This record gives sequence, C-alpha cells and structure tokens, in this order.
Amino acid sequence: MEKLIITLAHTGNVPTKELNPHSPLTIDEIVNDIKVCKKLGTSVAHIHVRDEDLKPTSDRKLFKEVLDRLDNENVDIIKQVSTGARGGENTIDWRGQMLDLNAHMASLSTGSSNFISSVNANSPQLIQSLAKKMFDNNIKPEIEAFDVSMIHNAIRLEKKGILKGPLHFNFVMNVPGSLPGTPRNLMFMIDSLPKGATWNVSGIGRSQIQMITMAILLGGHVRTGLEDVLKMPDGSYATNELLVKKVVSIANELGREIATVDEAKKILGLV
Ligand code: MG
Repeated sequence: MEKLIITLAHTGNVPTKELNPHSPLTIDEIVNDIKVCKKLGTSVAHIHVRDEDLKPTSDRKLFKEVLDRLDNENVDIIKQVSTGARGGENTIDWRGQMLDLNAHMASLSTGSSNFISSVNANSPQLIQSLAKKMFDNNIKPEIEAFDVSMIHNAIRLEKKGILKGPLHFNFVMNVPGSLPGTPRNLMFMIDSLPKGATWNVSGIGRSQIQMITMAILLGGHVRTGLEDVLKMPDGSYATNELLVKKVVSIANELGREIATVDEAKKILGLV
C-alpha cells in the first residue's frame, strides 16, 4: 500500500485559547507546532493565520510571514494555504490574496454547506476564480469536500479544464451542520471519487479516530490537528504533537508506513 501522508491542520479558524489553551495562534506558535510535528512524520502543513486580535484572516502579509519563516528556517514541508470561507470577507480578492506566494498547495471548497453557525459559502464564480488563480500560480488544489456533491462538482470542473487531474481531495467529515463522519458515509465518498484521485480525511471532533483509522486501512491519507479536534479520546486537551503521535501509533499498529516529504510530493504529483 502507498505510504501514508500526514497533514497537520494546526489552527484553523475556530480554536481559541479558551477552547484549548494549546491552540497555536501567533506566528511563532504556528511555526513552532509545524516544526515539532514535521519531526514526528507530518509532510503537509495546512496553514491558517490569525490577525492581531487573534481572529481568523486571509491577510496575505501574515501568510507570507509564516511561509517565509518556514523557508528561512529550512523546514522542509509541503506548504498548503487555506482559502476557507471563514477568513473574513467572502470575495475572490480577499480569499485568494495569498495564492501568489511560495506555497505548494491551497484548499479549495467546490461547493457550499453549513458550518455550525455560519455558511460555508462558495459560489460557482468564486470557486472558478480561486481555481484559476491556483492554476496560474502552479498551486495544487486540495479539494475540501464536505459532501458528495462537491466531489461531483470537482469532476465537472476537471472536465471543463478548470481543474487539472489527478485531483486530490480532503473529505471533511462530521462538521456540525454537514455530513456526519460515519464509516458508511466515508465509503460513499470514496466510491464517488474519479479515477486516479488521491484523498485524505479530516474527521472532525469525535469522529477523528474512526475516520483516521479507516483512511489508514483503506489506503487514503489523514489530516489531524487542532483545527479538526480539540480533545483527546480521554477528554483531555489535545495538542498538535499528541494528535500526530496518535496517527503515527495507529499507522504503526496497522502496518502502514509513513511518507517522507519527498514521497508525499510524488504521491501528490508535486514533482
Ligand atoms: Mg482549514
């Protein structure tokens, strides 16, 4: 079986120090967590940033600071920036402002859904504009599929030449207001993939261990980190380090080897 790519989603848009005191929110904290987790086997960093009030933002300047710090400090990792809907203003100019920077990948939702108290709003125009900017800047999209319609929409965009295959998906499972993270739903997502696609799964909250274990068994890849889950299975506060260690330990138990950064680049078609 292909080696396992571990993606670290270190911060996301939701965590606060109140929700989990270990949430990395400043640039120093974010870079530090990426470095620690890279040593443990993480090959992709899914990057979000916070503004001076520690609120989610898509500010290009702050993304540039994180990306440059990783480059300057020789942190060899696949850098994936978020273009998610909760980073402030919902326009292509705002959400795609960091897509001309030194990242390898970027997230791209190919449809709309609900978060717990807001809309994951991605209009057809916005999706196409973000996809075009990624294409023009040689950035590979990670398609964030919150349900199966988003997979079909990505296939449609590939047929139209707006997305270039082989496509890479992240199944975002168990977001409150969206598709529950059950084994049956995950199988349905996998069965809906186009030929040659690669995939990983984000099991949000309580679905985390189950979704990760299934992905490891089924030949997919996994995403973990405080963006996706704030507590360990025993109810204690999670840290990014503990979450990555948990993935590595499940992979070891199940006999799946962990990909290096170079191996992950090959699997994702980045080289
Ligand atoms: Mg994200």
